[in-house]
Amino acid sequence: MEKSFDCLVIGAGYAGGVAARELAERGGLRVLVLERRDHIGGNAYDCLDEHGILIHKYGPHIFHTSSKRVFDYLSRFTRWRRYQHRVIANLPRDNPEVVPAHKRTDGRFCFPVPFNLDSLEAAFGKAEGSRLGEKLLAAYPAQSQVTILELRQNPDPEVAAIAEYVYEHVFVHYTMKQWGQTPEEIDPATTARVPVRLSRDDRYFQDPWQGMPLEGYTPMFQRMLDHPSITVELGVDARDRVSFGEGQVLLDGVPFSGPVIFTGQADELFGFQDGRLPYRTLDFRLETYDRQFYQSHGTVNYTVDEDFTRITEFKHLTGQRLQDPVTSIMKEYSRAYTGAEGETPYYAIISPENNALYAKYQARAEAYPNLHLLGRLAEYKYYNMDAIVLRALELCDRLLEDKEGNS
Ligand code: FAD
Ligand code: UDP
Repeated sequence: MEKSFDCLVIGAGYAGGVAARELAERGGLRVLVLERRDHIGGNAYDCLDEHGILIHKYGPHIFHTSSKRVFDYLSRFTRWRRYQHRVIANLPRDNPEVVPAHKRTDGRFCFPVPFNLDSLEAAFGKAEGSRLGEKLLAAYPAQSQVTILELRQNPDPEVAAIAEYVYEHVFVHYTMKQWGQTPEEIDPATTARVPVRLSRDDRYFQDPWQGMPLEGYTPMFQRMLDHPSITVELGVDARDRVSFGEGQVLLDGVPFSGPVIFTGQADELFGFQDGRLPYRTLDFRLETYDRQFYQSHGTVNYTVDEDFTRITEFKHLTGQRLQDPVTSIMKEYSRAYTGAEGETPYYAIISPENNALYAKYQARAEAYPNLHLLGRLAEYKYYNMDAIVLRALELCDRLLEDKEGNS
């Protein structure tokens, strides 16, 4: 094997896909990619469902980045559909009786998420909402957004009342569903992903580059991995091929001295020797309806009730047009990952304790100078797609610099 391949990449998601392409193309190296699933693309994989709707099998993925390098890099493998993600919260009214009977629908209402000045008016009524909006802007004159945890610290009673409203109607129940913990108990960077906006900008992301791969994520990955020096083997669990000797990574029992890039779970790679890293997993429920659209927005967050966190309707994201009125939606149910057969670890649960456990696996990996942990799972981080692309590019920059330095 050592003779046939110069590098080994485990996992064919963003981390593995970008690294394989870079090492093959820029480094002129022969790369073997081992992927456990029967497809490439990692969690960004998309495919047609049985009704011909393009769906994201492992949850909705919307591309956004503020890195021109990342956008330009991926643009080599795909054209883009212009798409800016907009999300609304759907929740029960606090006081359904205040709505005149003839105007009542299902006793629910919606407002934009991230919570913004329009959300404030939807929640408090136009006049009061607009007055409170002025108050909020005055409280944070130099900011365009504020995190919910920061807002809750504000001593002004009216600002505090807004904070409590947003906490109760946007964050606390959704976060309990997603993490089984309150916003105070989880890593603050997590809720900071969805700030309170001090403007009327109702886009979920504000990055300069946003969109969806025109033909989908999987064709983008196919082009990325389509290189004469890349060999992809699907349905192969690297643990069946890779083992560890004295400071050496072995491939099929033979020492492998080239770069080994591992993008799966670090704890699993080392046989859970230091214990299991905690994760959240998701159950996805796909439903298909005989109508053109199910909901008004790509994603609707159920921020107060329901067992699922959100519903995504893929046709909004992908722009797919079908002759028949048919649409597929996905509901996401979050729960603790147990490691049972068939479960996927989707979210690392970032905490000082879990980070310390991760550090033990990182130390184990460091015993093998040619082994690199890369990606959302392998690095135990809450990374978006673009962050992984950038990390893969930067790791390859370093590896290829070292190679040049050594030759
Ligand atoms: P993965 O995509 O998980 O790829 C790792 C690959 O390694 C997998 O294919 C796995 O099968 C394989 N593997 C693991 N172990 C082994 C082994 N032992 N042998 C062989 N193969 C192995 N990001 C965004 O930017 N925008 C979004 O809208 C967005 N939405 C998301 C929604 C959900 C529900 C989730 C969970 C994530 C979302 N993300 C989003 C994040 C995005 O999925 C990740 O940033 C990205 O997929 C990480 O790529 P990766 O290569 O690190 O990991
Ligand atoms: N969040 C929330 N209510 C919402 C949206 C998000 O409480 O309507 C919190 C929740 O804790 C969530 C986090 O913000 O886990 C990050 O949300 P994001 O939409 O970025 O999550 P992802 O798409 O990564 O699952």
